[in-house]
Amino acid sequence: MADSRNAYLCNFQIYTGKHENTMELGLSYRAVYDLTQPYLNNGYKLYTDNFYTSPKLAKDLLVDGTYLTGTVRTNRKGFPKDLVGEKLDKNVSVFLHCDGITAVHWKDKRDVFCLSSLHGNERETVKRQMTQKKFRLQLAYSLTEAEISKRANPPDDAVLRGPGRPPTPIPRLHGKHFAYNSHIRHRCRVCAKQKNPVTGKYKDTKTVTQCDKCGVHLCIGDCFELWHTNANV
Ligand SMILES: [Zn+2]
Ligand SMILES: [Zn+2]
Repeated sequence: MADSRNAYLCNFQIYTGKHENTMELGLSYRAVYDLTQPYLNNGYKLYTDNFYTSPKLAKDLLVDGTYLTGTVRTNRKGFPKDLVGEKLDKNVSVFLHCDGITAVHWKDKRDVFCLSSLHGNERETVKRQMTQKKFRLQLAYSLTEAEISKRANPPDDAVLRGPGRPPTPIPRLHGKHFAYNSHIRHRCRVCAKQKNPVTGKYKDTKTVTQCDKCGVHLCIGDCFELWHTNANV
């Protein structure tokens, strides 16, 4: 087991062969618990490969205040079978969230399965990478990022699933955007997507304020901010 900040080895165990009566899960599970014992309940994020990762390990570590992320074998007990049978197109990913654990099925050149307790119940899109190694690094990175921003809102137990999509960077969420007076009145782009639940009509707010970068008309204030901060607008 190594510290990701400096790559130093902090603990290790030598594999001396499978005990006759020890199931593979039992062995890999115990190895992780032995090694992490002094580090539990500190909010550490542990990354494991598919020899170690299992739903039980992720759940138990979560109870012990430690997050787990790793590739997983689909025959692990408790791994959602719904994810396994599905035929995915290349670059598509499917997620299932339950009890604070996220199961991922992602298709690169071949099918990749992961588990993580770093996630909440939000949908995520995994960026496509050419190699498994890159994918894992990217996954670890994005999960860490998600953890930082989402940990404040602990996940509920709802089950959510949705097909992932290849990433499309949204230019309006990046860089500097300034509002200016275009002297032309036009419908606000954000308001135009807001449906009145009673009348069923879309809001029709006219404004002269335009974004210099996006070129769209936006009400100054809330709509301008929403347009540049919310991917779902
Ligand atoms: Zn508006
Ligand atoms: Zn803009």
